[in-house]
Amino acid sequence: MSNVQFTIQGLKAQVEGKEILKGVDIEIKGGEIHAIMGPNGTGKSTLASAVMGHPVYEVTDGSITLNGEDVLEMEVDERARAGLFLAMQYPSEIAGVTNADFLRSAINARRSEGDEISLIKFIRQMEGSMNKLSIDPQFMHRYLNEGFSGGEKKRNEILQMAMLDPKICILDEIDSGLDIDALKIVADGVNEMRSEERGFLIITHYQRLLNYISPDFVHVMMQGRIVRSGGPELAQRLENDGYEWLKEELGIEDETVGQETEEFQMPMNTTAPKY
Ligand code: ADP
Ligand code: MG
Repeated sequence: MSNVQFTIQGLKAQVEGKEILKGVDIEIKGGEIHAIMGPNGTGKSTLASAVMGHPVYEVTDGSITLNGEDVLEMEVDERARAGLFLAMQYPSEIAGVTNADFLRSAINARRSEGDEISLIKFIRQMEGSMNKLSIDPQFMHRYLNEGFSGGEKKRNEILQMAMLDPKICILDEIDSGLDIDALKIVADGVNEMRSEERGFLIITHYQRLLNYISPDFVHVMMQGRIVRSGGPELAQRLENDGYEWLKEELGIEDETVGQETEEFQMPMNTTAPKY
């Protein structure tokens, strides 16, 4: 039996007074991989940000619990400590903070005082994880994400995830900007972390990633709601036929939430301590 249970119920959230999430329900148990698919602008990243407690996204209704604990009551850093992790669609660059400093602080922030990870142990772990993810060892001492390519940033997100050992891993479009080799490395990293002690929420636009990470459940988001749930065959159908058939079935003309906007960059990594 798994001892991870993550539940989102009737979640509504708004940005600058505009309602984006209009009642999202999702339940993830340890060992399960859930995928959320959907066209751009339908609220997928907003869901991830609301779960992590990004201040721009105001939750107006519903609940989020992790093992019975009220996530919405937690501060951002408490959510990370409770075991929530978000690999971001647009990881931020932090000049002046090395990758190693950042990760070590993030790990220690989750441990109690006096129980900090030793430098030797940390470096050994980081080297091992970097090796598995084919990340150049030099990246340990480079400023966080500064000058990293798109693919390097994404692999670095997976590195953080591997080292922080979260209970719920949310990956927001981790596949975007990855060539096929990098995609396989990322997928291997995720598959290796699959365990009964952990659940995954994988947000993706394309089915491609799901050829390498096979989900147990697939959900489609449109207009700020989950409009259809199924198994892997749902992802396959979307890959073959696109989203139009589903929009027709549902009588939806415009699947986005409100007006189309440009992409948003999150100001900081919500899983890490503040600098
Ligand atoms: P997706 O990840 O599915 O492409 P998003 O959750 O990023 O969609 O965005 C859904 C809608 O929410 C956007 O079209 C935009 O109107 C709004 N939105 C999201 N984030 C912000 C923000 N930081 N500021 C203003 N509006 C936002
Ligand atoms: Mg997005």
